[in-house]
Amino acid sequence: MDITQYIRDIKDFPKEGVVFKDITPLLLSPTATRQVVKEFILMLKDQKIDKVVGMESRGFFFATLLAQELNAGFIPVRKPNKLPHTKIQEKYELEYGFDTLEMHSDAIAPGDKILIHDDVLATGGTAEAVCKLVERLGGEIVQLNFLMELGFLNGRNKLRSYDVRSLVTY
Ligand code: 5GP
Repeated sequence: MDITQYIRDIKDFPKEGVVFKDITPLLLSPTATRQVVKEFILMLKDQKIDKVVGMESRGFFFATLLAQELNAGFIPVRKPNKLPHTKIQEKYELEYGFDTLEMHSDAIAPGDKILIHDDVLATGGTAEAVCKLVERLGGEIVQLNFLMELGFLNGRNKLRSYDVRSLVTY
């Protein structure tokens, strides 16, 4: 299946000069969504996963589906002040300024095998921060997977020590 058929380019969103990859057409198709889940599962090659971590907010869609399919737990990573319980945080650099991501401290037990998922790998800043959160709690990162990778932004360079997979590279 060619998933690019289900991803549309939105020019100048969220700001001028950016071409945003919109995955909502993919989410509208149960057949395509099921196929994407299947392809992610095949990429794991039967490696055991205890928990799937998904990034707010577009990472949540497939991370929860993958967690169900793998019989694993789902862990949301969120923007500041959204999670209600005790949490840890990581600050990371954006194009202009900084942002912060948070995870509940009791979400991961030391030695848990972790799959990290997000819709897009761009500069890699978000994924790098999530890797730090996972490892601070003692999680072992088995793989990171993305629907799309914007190859020209070289996000992989920040994630060299990990198994990084994408269904589509632009
Ligand atoms: P990074 O930290 O790798 O630069 O950016 C990745 C984050 O930004 C992801 O959480 C992703 O959801 C979001 N993102 C960046 N560009 C796009 C885009 O073109 N489309 C979508 N859907 N998300 C994007």
